Amino acid sequence: MSDTRQQLVEHLRFFGDLGVTGVNRRPSPVASPSSPLAPRPSPLASASSHLAPGSSPLATGAEALALIKADIGPDCSRCKLHGLGRKQVVFGVGNPEADLMFVGEAPGADEDIQGIPFVGRAGQLLTKMIEAINLTRDQVYIANVIKCRPPGNRNPEPDEIEQCEPFLFQQIAAIRPKVIVALGSFAAKTLLRSNDPISRLRGRIYDFQGARLIPTFHPSFLLRSPERKRDAWEDLKKARALLRAAE
Ligand code: URA
Repeated sequence: MSDTRQQLVEHLRFFGDLGVTGVNRRPSPVASPSSPLAPRPSPLASASSHLAPGSSPLATGAEALALIKADIGPDCSRCKLHGLGRKQVVFGVGNPEADLMFVGEAPGADEDIQGIPFVGRAGQLLTKMIEAINLTRDQVYIANVIKCRPPGNRNPEPDEIEQCEPFLFQQIAAIRPKVIVALGSFAAKTLLRSNDPISRLRGRIYDFQGARLIPTFHPSFLLRSPERKRDAWEDLKKARALLRAAE
C-alpha cells in the first residue's frame, strides 16, 4: 500500500474508532517552532541520582521507576488526598524505556480501583488514540500529574500538585522519553509552568528536558467535545512524526 493510502486508512480508522463523522476540509495548522518557554528543571536531575544515596547512576528505567514508586510508598500521606477517600496510589504503567510518554491529570474512580492510569472511559479513548498512531499501551508510558484520586473527580488543587509533581518529573527523568504528550490543561500547565489554557498551549511543540512536548486535549474533554478530535489527531500525527524522525 502506498504511504498516502496507508495514511488515509489510518486517518479514517482513527476517526471511525473515535466516532467522528464527516471530513475536515480545513488545511492543517502549520507546525510552530519550539517555544522559548523553559519549564522549571526537574527538582532532581535524574531518577537514579535523586533517590537512594548509593543507588547506581546506571539504573535502568525500570529500576529507577521502582525506586520512585518505593519512595512514594503505598500509603503516601504527603497531601490531603490520602484522607479524602482515595483507595490507592496510581503510579504509572507501560514501558519504562518508552520513547513516547502520555501525562494525564489524576486518577478517576476506575483508576483508583484498579491502580492503573487511564482504564475508564477516557482511558479507552486514550488507548484508541495510541493505537491510531500504530502503537500499543505496552509500548508507551502513561502517568498522571497527581497519583491519587481527588474526591468526586474534582480538579487537582495547587497544594496537591505541588506535593506530587516532583514524582512526575522523576518518572520523566527515569524514562527519558523522546516525546511527551501532555493531556489537558493540568498536565500541560504543570510541565510547561504556564497559566495559559490548553486551547492556547496546544498547536505548538515545546522542548522539555531533552524531549519534545506536545500539549493536546484531555480524552475526557474529547468525549464531551468530539468536534475537537480532529485537533487531537493533528497533535498525535506530530508526535508520530517526531518519533519517526528520532528513530
Ligand atoms: N483522567 C486522567 O487524567 N488520568 C487518568 O488516569 C484517568 C482519567
